[in-house]
Amino acid sequence: MDLGIAGKWALVCAASKGLGKGCAQALVREGVNVVVTARGEEALQATAAELRALNAKVEVRAVAGDIATAEGRAAALAACPQVDILVNNAGGPPPGDFRDWDRDAWIKALDANMLAPIALIKATVDAMTERGFGRVVNITSGAVKAPIATLGLSNGARSGLTGFVAGLARQSRLASRNVTVNNLLPGAFDTDRLRKTIPDEEAWRKRAQAIPAQRFGNADEFGAVCAFLCSAQAGYLTGQNILLDGGAYPGTF
Ligand code: NAP
Repeated sequence: MDLGIAGKWALVCAASKGLGKGCAQALVREGVNVVVTARGEEALQATAAELRALNAKVEVRAVAGDIATAEGRAAALAACPQVDILVNNAGGPPPGDFRDWDRDAWIKALDANMLAPIALIKATVDAMTERGFGRVVNITSGAVKAPIATLGLSNGARSGLTGFVAGLARQSRLASRNVTVNNLLPGAFDTDRLRKTIPDEEAWRKRAQAIPAQRFGNADEFGAVCAFLCSAQAGYLTGQNILLDGGAYPGTF
């Protein structure tokens, strides 16, 4: 299927590795020009080179910086001639016991996983409505639907973003002008982040077996769903939380 977005510009945040990179790859395959960001310059430049090799027809720009900061966001936005597609992403907060988290820990989580995406949406969405096309995809977490107790910082910050997006997406000012806002909720995906949280091969195998699909997801399949949400065909799909978890969530809805 031709997704009808060749020639558009996408800002894909936190995209040198893992799920963000999967989204950038899928968009580049569709002919979308991308600005990709990450804090570490080396991995980011390597990813930018891979993206250019995927599709010589697109322009790929790499901007090193922390998307949780105003400076990082300003640099990313300045590199993107226009943001037709915004993929919000950042590293997740650390696990722990809520008794150990002080105000600073909460502010860090809110900055990265709630306020940064909201700031980028604020900076881009009105121009999208004027052009009559816009797609915002926020990478959140399956933990928004089925909270994981040790990931309280993530549960809290991402639920705040989810509540905000639920109201935003339903504004007719956006929805009537072909601007959609959706969240993609990863379950367990085989990325650097997941590997760091699972101690050994035996635990890795057991964790995969506990998922009905009996495997972890991969960044390519995550990126493909993201690209569809960004497609011309997905203009009537807005305000949704799409869970990608191999059947792990046990509820009917
Ligand atoms: P990953 O493999 O660790 O990749 C994270 C990417 O984001 C890297 O490119 C990293 O590069 C970049 N990044 C992190 N913090 C950043 C920041 N503040 N500014 C700019 N770039 C930043 O992680 P992942 O598994 O793809 O996870 C992506 C998101 O999905 C995270 O929020 C994670 O919590 C969430 N999630 C993942 C899973 C899973 O199973 N993988 C499940 C649920 C939720 P630098 O470090 O160089 O900046």
